[in-house]
Amino acid sequence: MLDAQPITPVLLDAIKVLDARWKELPVDKHEFAASLAKQFKSKGCLSDKQWPWVEKLADAIQCAGVPDFTQAEEKEIGEMMGLVDFFAKAKEKMKWPVLVVHTGVFGFRISPATSLGKNPGAVYVKGNKTGQYVGMVGSKGDWCPANAWSPHSASGASLHALLVKLSRHPAETLSEQGLANGKCCMCNTALSDPISMATGYGATCAKHYGLPYGKAASKSATEKFTGTGSELEQTGYQLAHKKA
Ligand SMILES: [Zn+2]
Repeated sequence: MLDAQPITPVLLDAIKVLDARWKELPVDKHEFAASLAKQFKSKGCLSDKQWPWVEKLADAIQCAGVPDFTQAEEKEIGEMMGLVDFFAKAKEKMKWPVLVVHTGVFGFRISPATSLGKNPGAVYVKGNKTGQYVGMVGSKGDWCPANAWSPHSASGASLHALLVKLSRHPAETLSEQGLANGKCCMCNTALSDPISMATGYGATCAKHYGLPYGKAASKSATEKFTGTGSELEQTGYQLAHKKA
């Protein structure tokens, strides 16, 4: 029996992009891209070997015009390195990790770039409903927003602040987001278990993403609410990456 990948929202987005826009790819990719989209339509599934190509091709369509950051000179560790590390860790346990977060009226889907693509190690931010490309956290933690999402605009500034917060304090941020939306940010499922409803995310996701849960989570929440801002700044990622 085939060990089929679960079809996550990220993959569904990717196949939708491919189906609708494969003509935007270089001509030599047309036949392959169209055949993937056609196979998915007729069978409702694709193989484990085909899905990474769907992601790679959909990324190529959506990121057309985005510079190839792997060629850039060595960069300073960026302010969002925590997010890159977070997904690197999640990828040890999951093939397709994804976070759904909100700021203001906007929803975003955050997922690591495929290792076959042109920005391995990077993290893509896309519109949650639209799948539209919003920006990329480069593999060195640097934020490269699409023009419309530059931090000079109000919505771009609040997205930037949310991503920085998520990079520095993933558990707290995902908890706050989950509590505000009543859904786990990692699996997009309504929180129903009493402990999950208090934590802001579910037990299984906590395990997969290496986040505290239950007693550990309420302890970190207590620390968070009693700690001062400067103490919080000294936690986790900042300590690990502090410059000498
Ligand atoms: Zn979950």
